[in-house]
Amino acid sequence: MSRLWLLIGLVSSLINFAHADPAMVSTSIADRFDFPLGAPNGDGYERSRGFNVHGHLGEDWVSAAGPGAVYHAPVSAVANGVVTLARDFKRSWGNVIVIRHAYYEGGELKYADSLYAHLDKIFVAEGQPVNRGQEIGLVGNAHGLYHPHLHFEIHHNVTIGVVHTSATRSLANYADPSIFLTQHRVLNPVHEKLVVNVNTYTMPTFAGIPAKPFYTANAVTRVASSGSPKPSIFQSLFGSKP
Ligand SMILES: [Zn+2]
Repeated sequence: MSRLWLLIGLVSSLINFAHADPAMVSTSIADRFDFPLGAPNGDGYERSRGFNVHGHLGEDWVSAAGPGAVYHAPVSAVANGVVTLARDFKRSWGNVIVIRHAYYEGGELKYADSLYAHLDKIFVAEGQPVNRGQEIGLVGNAHGLYHPHLHFEIHHNVTIGVVHTSATRSLANYADPSIFLTQHRVLNPVHEKLVVNVNTYTMPTFAGIPAKPFYTANAVTRVASSGSPKPSIFQSLFGSKP
């Protein structure tokens, strides 16, 4: 009897240990994929530049209402998943979010990463589970480098992250985003959670701003959404700190 309790204690401590690993995060299986702008169907938005596996490895999305109208448009998670990367890389990427999705296709468990770049604001933190349609950031211009647009990618290879040179340019590694979304609008519903490893990337050698602290259930979800704090009424009126 005492051996049984010892065994139970051992197993439960192993389970607790596994849950404590910040690289392993529980996610809901993706039940479908929607569009990142004008969710769920992309209404009001259009591609200004398409995908080319030998050139542009994602798609650029803008507002159908005209140039600039996409600026600060809300960006939505295309499916249930876990935020694996959410940080400002400066340079050409600007603010980037990558979300890992687990889904079943033809009875087979598969993974895909969705990438959202040049954002003005990031509302999520690394390690945070997100739901399809959840607002994760706002469209930006990569710190003034480009006309405002969303650069959006889908990776089959979940070791790429933001380093394109870490995988060969092939359709096995990169998906044409619109084709992928269109082909995965309806999936077999699986009401199941899955623990995924979110620590699979090689980080770029150029300097980016360090990630926000790993998400915990009690942490704020709108990380990096606030700029400098607003002055109090007192400061506004009298121009000095109370
Ligand atoms: Zn682009």
